[in-house]
Amino acid sequence: NRTPLMAGNWKMNLDHLEANHLVQGLAMALSDAGHDYSKCEVLVIPPFTDIRSVQTVVEADGLDIKYGAQDVSIHDNGAYTGEISTSMLTKLGCTYVVMGHSERREYHNESDELVGAKARKVLDAGMTPILCCGEALEVRKAGTHVEFVLAQIRAALAGWSAEDVAKIVIAYEPIWAIGTGETATAADAQEVCGAIREALRADYGDATAEATRILYGGSAKPANIKELMAEADIDGALVGGASLKADSFAQMAGFY
Ligand code: 13P
Repeated sequence: NRTPLMAGNWKMNLDHLEANHLVQGLAMALSDAGHDYSKCEVLVIPPFTDIRSVQTVVEADGLDIKYGAQDVSIHDNGAYTGEISTSMLTKLGCTYVVMGHSERREYHNESDELVGAKARKVLDAGMTPILCCGEALEVRKAGTHVEFVLAQIRAALAGWSAEDVAKIVIAYEPIWAIGTGETATAADAQEVCGAIREALRADYGDATAEATRILYGGSAKPANIKELMAEADIDGALVGGASLKADSFAQMAGFY
């Protein structure tokens, strides 16, 4: 009953013209493949400056492709130079927002508490938060990756109700697998995604554990997506590099 989600995080790539081109190419590739959106939701997550043009293409062509943002402010408006508010995003038709990506945690010192506040803000604005978590290589080597990831999630979601947690998406992205070409094996990814679901079950009950979608991210690509999606607790992928090519990303969305 969890609809799989293929989410393309473009990161800091593509200007608004290239964005138009990619969304049109993606729509065409999906249509050529006879994509069934009820079997896999397709989401693109462009830089802020591309969102308006993605909206124009999606609305003009009546596309089923969804779009969202890579980050958001916890403030409503005011003197926050460089920030973007949730209402700016909802006005543009965004339905998802990523928070806590390892690149933001690392380069912008984002804490679990801030990431949790962003998720709260996004949910309150009627959009779906995609809460990212994941361990660095040292943690993986020490064998404490499961505890590490569960602690990140529990800190971000402290005080949340079971109903609200059921509405979010969690993305497990081991840092050592991001952009390195080194994918976690499907079994490694399942180990952590399964542990996340069991933690949700312990903290919030069965209904929430069964409803919350959990994605894997880190060098996901056409060659490994089927294997990843075959795992019981992996409900989709957060795709970086391979989402910048229409054919690759469309192929991934058609994993089913
Ligand atoms: P890559 O797919 O390029 O490894 O990036 C993963 C990622 O960080 C998606 O958010």
